Amino acid sequence: MNTEEKGLGSWTEREREELLELGHALFACPELGFQEVKSARILEDFFEKNGISFEKGLSVTGIKASIGKKGGYHIALVADMDALEVRDGENAYPFHSCGHSIQTAVMACVLKRLKERGIAEKTGGQVSFIAAPAEEFIDFETRAKLKEEGKIRYFSGKQDMISKGVFDDVDCVISMHINGDSGGPLFDINSTLAGFMVKKVIFRGKASHSGAAPHLGRNALHGASLAMDGIAYLKDQLPPEAGLKLHPVLTSCGGTVNVIPEQAVLETYIRANTLEYLLEAGEKFDRCVTHCGEALGIETEIINTTGYMPFAQSQEITEVVHRQMLELCREDQIVKNVVSGASGDIGDLGYLIPAVQFGFSGAEGRIHSAVFSVGDEENAYFRTARVAEKTVEAILSDPSLQVKNPDFQKKKEFYLREWLGENRE
Ligand SMILES: [Zn+2]
Ligand SMILES: [Zn+2]
Repeated sequence: MNTEEKGLGSWTEREREELLELGHALFACPELGFQEVKSARILEDFFEKNGISFEKGLSVTGIKASIGKKGGYHIALVADMDALEVRDGENAYPFHSCGHSIQTAVMACVLKRLKERGIAEKTGGQVSFIAAPAEEFIDFETRAKLKEEGKIRYFSGKQDMISKGVFDDVDCVISMHINGDSGGPLFDINSTLAGFMVKKVIFRGKASHSGAAPHLGRNALHGASLAMDGIAYLKDQLPPEAGLKLHPVLTSCGGTVNVIPEQAVLETYIRANTLEYLLEAGEKFDRCVTHCGEALGIETEIINTTGYMPFAQSQEITEVVHRQMLELCREDQIVKNVVSGASGDIGDLGYLIPAVQFGFSGAEGRIHSAVFSVGDEENAYFRTARVAEKTVEAILSDPSLQVKNPDFQKKKEFYLREWLGENRE
């Protein structure tokens, strides 16, 4: 087998070892969002050792390492830093079961290779590695505390970094995510991710004796129950391509059987495939629960938590990525255009800046479970590195591939105001 077939490209044995060492070191120190202190230290040491300047402590633990001249076309290699919490019987512990340690190691080593090969100097471009904390939407208590202390403004790393201007000078984003077991197709391109928002509705009625005087009370559960029906009917009001998913749960309904319930709480995610459908569904939901409550004389309060935007990939960059993949594998080993029900904060970035997140296989066990491992290191680390490196090189070498978002400022203003609700806080 020649080196090209192995996906080795011109990577030396030492470079391959270094990438695996970094990947294994990061995999061995899983940390939850905004607490990726040891992982950040490992990356900082890596850039120090390789003479690459970087900013650290961005949104608590994030890192931005850059090569090339400011003002040139600027590509960001974006990777997630955080782990998940998994459960094994009674024990819960942080674990890299979403493969974020792989993306981080690969993108860091790709930046180092690009520097050593002088790609930024040769082309007049700029490349940054941006490690973002807290992609997984979990552990709200810790994040609420960090918010109170003024360390973060938003619960997702990329949202917080966007609000602090970390991406303001970036022209396009290249990222990757593990997405399948070893043995299957090697890559996927141009998949979409759903967007979501979180709704919590508090129905407030009036308690009274359920036998002697129910008419003196107002049953909060009746309001919630009517709203559950209304929400189910809402699913008919958007077309199938909207990908609307609504799964409300009654998370609390206090009281005992001889008391008319005073309060009931309904919570749900609302998911949809495009921002327009998601915002429309959010409005319909609010109208539905408010009026179901009103119909029975029950007060409602809606508490909104911002989720992630739907993700649509840049077609132009996808084409470049696709061409690099075909240097390494056959067309039928690349899955295309999957409409995924999963979400990620790459959706928020993709709304503002042309972005791709190509998928790669190589997992063993199940993603997001306690039995996850990397089975195919050749694909997970080396072919992906090659795709990312060659994509950057191709874009920087050909100005016709250098897409930008001319509406960045306008879109960012809308994003901060309407999506993150900056002025509502
Ligand atoms: Zn995940
Ligand atoms: Zn993930």
